[in-house]
Amino acid sequence: MSEPTPTDKILDLFLLRVREPEYSTDAPYYTTGSIVSAALLRLVVVILAGYGLRQVASGQVTWTVMLFALWALVAWPAYNQYVRFNTNIDDIKRDTLCGVCRHFNPTSQLCSVLDEHVTTDVPPCEGEAWEPRT
Ligand code: SF4
Repeated sequence: MSEPTPTDKILDLFLLRVREPEYSTDAPYYTTGSIVSAALLRLVVVILAGYGLRQVASGQVTWTVMLFALWALVAWPAYNQYVRFNTNIDDIKRDTLCGVCRHFNPTSQLCSVLDEHVTTDVPPCEGEAWEPRT
């Protein structure tokens, strides 16, 4: 498993990736928290860029570019990441022991006993705390 480079860390902060990197096997790459925080960070960057653009371009050009940027850099990636997050949850529910355990919280992708994120790998408790979902 490779370690993230400084460039990877910036890409991860803004979630500017099409798919999960190789090194994100221990914890889920997309969570509701990371999706929302990355979208807010991208929103701030787009707004600052809009202020900068307004200094050199007309209002009509600025608003046109801003609307496109808000869709392409903020809303659309966040929507796709949320779809991916839900796909991961479906995979966990279908393919893993945690998916049929009463301690698995799909909303946060957490095990409520260990307070750890669950992935499609080995259950964090290794099956010892498993209880069937009723
Ligand atoms: S108790 Fe074990 S099997 Fe159940 S969700 Fe937590 S880690 Fe998974």
